[in-house]
Amino acid sequence: MHTTAPLISTPATSHDAASGSVVAGNKPLIAAPASLICTNVHKSYSLGGESVAALQGVDLRIEVPGFYAIMGQSGSGKSTLLHLLATLDRPDQGEIYLAGRAIHNLSERDATIFRRRNVGIVFQQFNLIPTLTARENVELPGMLASESSTSLATRSKELMERLGIWQRQSHRPDALSGGEQQRVAIARSLLFSPPILLADEPTGNLDSASSERLWSLLAEIAREQHMLVVMVTHEPAAAAHCARAFVLADGKVKGQIETEGLDAVGMAARYQQCVSAS
Ligand code: ADP
Ligand code: MG
Repeated sequence: MHTTAPLISTPATSHDAASGSVVAGNKPLIAAPASLICTNVHKSYSLGGESVAALQGVDLRIEVPGFYAIMGQSGSGKSTLLHLLATLDRPDQGEIYLAGRAIHNLSERDATIFRRRNVGIVFQQFNLIPTLTARENVELPGMLASESSTSLATRSKELMERLGIWQRQSHRPDALSGGEQQRVAIARSLLFSPPILLADEPTGNLDSASSERLWSLLAEIAREQHMLVVMVTHEPAAAAHCARAFVLADGKVKGQIETEGLDAVGMAARYQQCVSAS
């Protein structure tokens, strides 16, 4: 991975003190402070006439950009929470503020607009379109938003170069390794320079070397872009790359782990303590 140059170049970048937003020319790169606040968030699903409580009062507060983990065993509600944060679904109860905006009661139309500009999303299955090339996959959200093809081409090239996949631009997903496919998915999620990136078990389909590279990459994105990157994971080795891990159990945040100085083994021990104390 490249470590010297910034991940995504922002030539004419300056800080706009009045609005608190970082701007490049006239284009805001970070629309609002990258923060995330959940208060008493509840979500149930109905399944065969029964109600399944996935989240039962989640409280979570992140006020500084960086790389964070939401940890928990399978079925603990991680994906449910991420879907709510991504405005793909709405909570039954409680409040969620993302980048300073209340998102718990957005209409579907407003959620779509908010999501496009503020949230990048990366899933375990990559979700690339198999018939499109890597570059077309990256540019797709821009095409759907009727962005000019010239500016999309510039942006996708810049992102793909920095993520080390430009030389793969004309390959279709099935000709890419899992790690490369996930980098394409990350480039796509960063197309609109969102202040927040959400990733749901992004390395679930990758081998351990590719996983390590991807976690380092997400940490780098958070640091260099001053982004809020939230990764859902059940792997202590993944959470060890983050600044802080929130542990989800029984539909609630049961604890926080400050990961500084912890390796994967130390992280696993702290995580077990947290889960068994619940
Ligand atoms: P995790 O991502 O931590 O594995 P999920 O958020 O996927 O957990 O699921 C939390 C709980 O909600 C589980 O009991 C799961 O079976 C249930 N659940 C998730 N999605 C649905 C759904 N669409 N319909 C019914 N139950 C669901
Ligand atoms: Mg899940």
